This record gives sequence, structure tokens and C-alpha cells, in this order.
Amino acid sequence: MSFSRITLWFCGAAATASVASTLIWPQPAARRPAGISVNAAIPRRNQDFTVMANNLITVYNQQMVSSRRVMHSGTREEAKRAALPYGRGSVSAFKLERPLLSRARQQAVSSLLLAASLMASGLWAQGPPAGGRGGRGPAAGQTVEKIRQLKPNLYMITGGGANTLIRVTPDGLIVVDTKNPSDENYNRVMEEIRSVSALPVKFVLNTHHHPDHVGNNQKFIDAGAQVVALDALKTRMASDPRTKDIPGLPTVTFAKDYVLKFGGAEVDAHSFGRGHTGDDTMVYFPDLKVVMVSDQITDATPIADFANGGSAVEWTQILDGVLKLDFEMAIPGRGEPKTRAEIEAYRAKFAAVVSRASEAIKAGATRDTLATQVKTDDLGWQFNPQFYGQLYDELTRK
Ligand SMILES: [Zn+2]
Repeated sequence: MSFSRITLWFCGAAATASVASTLIWPQPAARRPAGISVNAAIPRRNQDFTVMANNLITVYNQQMVSSRRVMHSGTREEAKRAALPYGRGSVSAFKLERPLLSRARQQAVSSLLLAASLMASGLWAQGPPAGGRGGRGPAAGQTVEKIRQLKPNLYMITGGGANTLIRVTPDGLIVVDTKNPSDENYNRVMEEIRSVSALPVKFVLNTHHHPDHVGNNQKFIDAGAQVVALDALKTRMASDPRTKDIPGLPTVTFAKDYVLKFGGAEVDAHSFGRGHTGDDTMVYFPDLKVVMVSDQITDATPIADFANGGSAVEWTQILDGVLKLDFEMAIPGRGEPKTRAEIEAYRAKFAAVVSRASEAIKAGATRDTLATQVKTDDLGWQFNPQFYGQLYDELTRK
């Protein structure tokens, strides 16, 4: 597979950071490149990456740039892995020369990133036919894909942010998670929904406050839906720099558990603890034996958003809650549905990480050395030093 490559430079007239962007895409003949390459320069003191929803990988500390497109952060290796599901499209690496930006400059950088992504889209558009909207577009993960039936009256739409579920009832629809904010994503989601039901969306549930899960809440509210979520989700969505400007705060909130009975269907929302964030919500469809576990289960290394209540130590507690439910299919925030056995295996791996860290601390590991004292190669996960720092704090706080 061959790639052509163009390097674009955005020099910081508006922002003091100059942003170097390398956009990589296939030759016109190559519609679906097999892999992705990442050119990333890691600022020495800020090793967080942020993988952006529209196939961009940015290299800066998570707190620095306020972007609604941000999904996850992690190490270089994690970024590479996390980018793979969004493959096929462009990957960009941005290096900010100054790690700390003022608010105004953050906005300016966000604009540059947006410009870069739009440019990438434009370049893509000049390529071969993309295979239809939402089908085999140039950038998997970025594009809202075709709706798929998982169970009777339960559908999933991948792409454009996190996975979205749709429960069809005779009285209307229940939607879980609303993807990254954009008219395009919302319109595509509705187009796909309309291909299976003409009924209105009456309820939306959010699995946590991250932008790729709550991005189009407001559009559903405007169309007549109630958005149901944890109290903590509403609070964090309103305060997290990545989401506070996204409209569509939940309209109905609950403290811990919520049972929605609508149109003869039941949907249960549970907060079993803190993990990926402090507002993780497991959404369970008891009659279908399906549970939406969201980013509590990942194909790549798990990511805990410690700044927003995430916890490594409590992570398995959520999975214990999930495993008490009678389910046969678990839907992650990204990627394909999982089996119960896969959830059990994931739980065991996470428990191993925490117990190894605990042992290492007992053996003398410090906050700074813990990362080098815990092996996770056999688990297929590679956490960044920040993760270990936070894990150290959690384990020694007690
Ligand atoms: Zn998330």
C-alpha cells in the first residue's frame, strides 16, 4: 500500500504555538489503506496525547487545548493503537511549541486544528468515490456508519464519535449516546435511524460526559427528546473544558440508578462506581440481555480521565456490577460488541494491573518509579506515566 504525503504548516500568527501537521492519505487508486502511520513529536514535559475524533492525533497535554473533538489521551503507543480503528483516513500530529496556552490561544489552536481537519476532508473529497455516505468513506471512525441490527428492536450506529444504540418501541425511540457534536453527525444518525423507524426519539441516555457521547444532545432535545443522565454527568459536562460549551445538558437526572419504562421496553441505567470517568453509566436492556458498557471496556489500553473523577482502583467495581447483570452482549464505547467472557477477561486484566501496582509499591516503588515497576506486556496494555502517577496516588491515599 502506498501513501502520498503532504506536509502543511500552520505558523502561529494567531497562536504562539506553531502547528506542524502531516496529513497522510492514500493514492487515488488506494481507497482503503491498510494502516496508519503516526508522526508525533512528544513535548518532553507533556506526554499526554489526545486522539481526536476526526482522525487527528494531537500531541499536547489534555488540559491545554479546549476542543470538542477530544476523545482520549494516552501515550504515543496508545495513540497509535487508539487511532487504528479510525484507520484508513488521515492522521495528523501536531506539536505545540509552548505547552501552556491562554484561553484565547487555545481557541486559536482549536481553529487551526479544525481548519486542518477540514482541509483533510477537502483533500479526501478529491479522491476516488468514497463509496457512499456513511459507507466506506475515507475516514473510518470519523464517518457515521450504516445502522446495524444487534437484537430485535435494538440497533447500533458506529462512527462519528462513540457507538450509538437505538431501542425501538411502538411509542418511540430510545437512543444511547449522541456522538461528536456536528450537524453532519446528527443528520447522518437520523438518516440511519429513519431507515429503520419513522417514530420520534423520545429519550436519550448518556453513558458519560465526554464529547463523543453527548455531542448532539441538544439536537435531540430540540426534536422533542428528554436526555436522561447521572447528576454527576450533568455537573461534569458543564465544567469539563471539553464539553462546557456543548449545548444539551441532561434534562432529567438521577443520583445512581434509573429505570426507564417506555413503550413496553425497559432500560436500566446504573452507576456502579468510578472508572473511565466519575460519571460512568451502564445502560442495560434486560429483555434483550444487552448492556452498554461504553468506554469502561476498550480495545486499546484503558483510559481513566482522572481529572474528571476517573479511577483505576474502582474500575473493576463497575465491571463487577455489570457482571451481576444477566447479559450476553456488552457494547463498548468504540468497537464491536463483546461477550460476557470478554468482559470477565478484561476485568481480570485490570485487577492484575492494580494488584501488580500495589505489590510494586509495597516493594518500594515510588510515584516516579511505579511506571517502570509494573509490567503489563502480557496484558497487551501500555499505560502512560501519568496513569501510574494517579494510580500511585489512589493506592497510597487510603
Ligand atoms: Zn470517554
